[in-house]
Amino acid sequence: MAFELPPLPYAKDALAPHISANTLEFHYGKHHQTYVTTLNNLTKDTPLADKSLEEVIKAVAGDSGKVPVFNNAAQVWNHTFYWNCMKPGGGGKPGGKIAGKIEKAFGSYEKFAEQFKTACTGQFGSGWGWLVAEKGELAITKTPNADLPLIHGQTALLTCDVWEHAYYLDYQNRRPDYVQTFLDHLVNWDFVEKNLAGA
Ligand code: MN
Repeated sequence: MAFELPPLPYAKDALAPHISANTLEFHYGKHHQTYVTTLNNLTKDTPLADKSLEEVIKAVAGDSGKVPVFNNAAQVWNHTFYWNCMKPGGGGKPGGKIAGKIEKAFGSYEKFAEQFKTACTGQFGSGWGWLVAEKGELAITKTPNADLPLIHGQTALLTCDVWEHAYYLDYQNRRPDYVQTFLDHLVNWDFVEKNLAGA
């Protein structure tokens, strides 16, 4: 069974003006689609084609002969996760259990936001900023390129894509402004709460 591009959880113009329909046209319609297509081409007629996306990622992680499979499979996963991390009218301080966990781990929502922003802006080149759960504790991490918490014994709770293709059309080189907008207007805390419950 071929890997598929999951539908976006909202319309392409739903995150505007923070993330434009133009960005989603390219980021979802071209970049994410290309990772799916490439993954299918790379796994066609191999035992990997019948595995779940998570199984593929775990099976090829660290295998120097399967780097392209890992990169494309992980990028398919990362992007699907990232779309769900956002919603129209999202962002700001969360409620729910995640609020207490954030306060315990970072001292306050404001300190969390500052550290998350630092991780996202401090990732040199392409990659991802993350809020993760590891052994019941929350932590902020960053990963280069396609790397992801799944292969580091962590559960992803929230991510921000900091590849230039995520923000360049709307923010050009202003990655800090994009990350601040992500935190203030886009984070889907309901999705984070759901991920926390499964951690
Ligand atoms: Mn991306």
